[in-house]
Amino acid sequence: MDKATIQEALKVIKYPGFSRDIVSFGLVRGVDFADGKATVALALTTADAQIPAQLKTEAEKVLQGLEGVSEVEVTVSVTAPKHTPPPPGQKREVTGPAQQSIGGVKRIIAVASGKGGVGKSTFSVNLACALDQVLSEQGKPESVGIMDCDLYGPSVPLMIGAASRPEVRGESLVPVESFGVRVMSMGLLIDEDTPVVWRGPMVMKTIQQFAANVDWGKLEVLVVDLPPGTGDAQLSLVQTLPLDGAVIVTTPQKAAVDVARRGALMFGKVNVPLLGVVENMSYLEGPDGEKQFLFGQGGGEAAATTLESEFLGQMPLDPVLREGADRGIPVVVSHSDRASSQVFRKIATRLLEKLSRSDYN
Ligand code: ADP
Repeated sequence: MDKATIQEALKVIKYPGFSRDIVSFGLVRGVDFADGKATVALALTTADAQIPAQLKTEAEKVLQGLEGVSEVEVTVSVTAPKHTPPPPGQKREVTGPAQQSIGGVKRIIAVASGKGGVGKSTFSVNLACALDQVLSEQGKPESVGIMDCDLYGPSVPLMIGAASRPEVRGESLVPVESFGVRVMSMGLLIDEDTPVVWRGPMVMKTIQQFAANVDWGKLEVLVVDLPPGTGDAQLSLVQTLPLDGAVIVTTPQKAAVDVARRGALMFGKVNVPLLGVVENMSYLEGPDGEKQFLFGQGGGEAAATTLESEFLGQMPLDPVLREGADRGIPVVVSHSDRASSQVFRKIATRLLEKLSRSDYN
């Protein structure tokens, strides 16, 4: 019997309500074995008193079942989460193991997609700029941030023209500002050529640090660009952050409904309300105003209906939008009169309206 075997054995214990185990969640802080006695220290952040008790019992049972173990000691240290208050009337009963609030940030919304390449990052970046424009008109300039959680392929800095390294102030990183939006991304911290090899717990830790050690200042809204997909890795990110709502970006194909449904299930598991569905790359408008529906029709609306969520709008295919993303000037900033820019502003206005209300419907 050794420490590694004990650590391995603890992997059968899932965090209540999640498909991830407590080891990969990074909750096992110490393992020791000497003279037949196995000692395990767990550390978690939760407001639910049942969870530490349940994990302690399960860990004791697992350890007692190991050959060579005659005595067991499991300690659990619990920290209460510091939540941003949920909207009035909104209950957030299920919290993840390490959810932490982000000081000074009023609302946090996640942008998710079932798969890559649907334009999720392009949407997140333009949405952040559109939110900034709408909030500036309301007398709240420079109160939007964007957190790029795609650690493997961070594209937000390129799309929003952020290139400088974040400054370190005390123990915090200061986000880089671009077009009035505060940006934090792994892309700002590592060189483009550095191969990024992450393991699940490291990804979680990094995102937790983005939440806890980035000095976001006072923000009305923080947009979180999640990595594409709806698997366990995304779920664990989602439960780490105190999200107020989520937007799903999809494409017009009918098959998109299934993918979007998986996204909704993910947010459902952590009680994060769905704010709506956006359909991207909906159509190409010719010079004569005729719309060509290159990728089929109706996927976004069908997804919204299935998920009993709001259909927030259709984003046209727009070469100017793509060029803007490639040269680091979002279309919302460079061409505010484009049809796509107007859709972004409409969605931004609607989301702010929803976030200011309690029921989100
Ligand atoms: P994801 O984040 O979902 O992987 P991206 O945001 O990186 O997708 O977008 C993939 C590519 O599609 C990018 O080159 C982007 O500029 C382009 N793109 C996204 N949305 C549109 C659109 N509505 N019109 C034209 N090009 C788009």
